[in-house]
Amino acid sequence: MKIKRQKHAKKTISFYKYNFSFREPFQIIIDGTFCHAALKNKIQIKEQLPKYLMGEVQLCTTNCALKELETLPKELYGAKLILQRFQIRRCKHTNDPVPASECLLSMLGETNPHHYFIATQDQELTKALKKIPGVPLLYIIVNTMVLDKPSERTLKHVEAVQLGEIVNPSQQKSIQSLKEKEGLGKDGEDKRGKKRKRKSSNPNPLSCLKKKKKPLPPQCKKTDGEKKKRIRKKKRRPVGGEKAIGSDPTNA
Ligand SMILES: [Zn+2]
Repeated sequence: MKIKRQKHAKKTISFYKYNFSFREPFQIIIDGTFCHAALKNKIQIKEQLPKYLMGEVQLCTTNCALKELETLPKELYGAKLILQRFQIRRCKHTNDPVPASECLLSMLGETNPHHYFIATQDQELTKALKKIPGVPLLYIIVNTMVLDKPSERTLKHVEAVQLGEIVNPSQQKSIQSLKEKEGLGKDGEDKRGKKRKRKSSNPNPLSCLKKKKKPLPPQCKKTDGEKKKRIRKKKRRPVGGEKAIGSDPTNA
């Protein structure tokens, strides 16, 4: 079971790396609900999360998430102690804290540009997170941490990118830099024309193939000289008839 879980996580992580440019150290925003569940199930987030995600992680939270724990019952005091140890990422609500779920959603925006993972047990928040493409989701189930598989919305986004309907910001950058490298600026059209000409005048591969065939026979002559001689003898016998068919009955 454990190996299977790890395998799924590996697949999911490489999905986010490839399609959404996630890089280590993974930025993981954690809320009070996740900390509380971790505490209850004796999960050491700091030790276990890097192992599970097979990479460096940066555990963080927001001021709003911390503030929310203060207002909740004392049972959650332990969760607050854990959450306090994580880096606090600046949110928009410095003077006016909002519920953690609202705050975390605001950290992601529409496209999760900072490549945050979200670790939460809040089901309402989870539902909302699944509507944003490219947000890896961590939760705790039966005393283990689980990295959720990519959401439908995420998969659809990737599909659209692959079909060329959407261009990812990161891809857009690389396209631009490629264009610059090839000098496709204002004179782009002219250069494209030249490239097409090159493509049309490309009989080179064919000539290369012929060249390859030519050097082979000489090698054969050197190494398999005897075989060649035998073939020559056969050819000599039916001198009159050029066709090889004539030679067969005479040999038999
Ligand atoms: Zn906030």
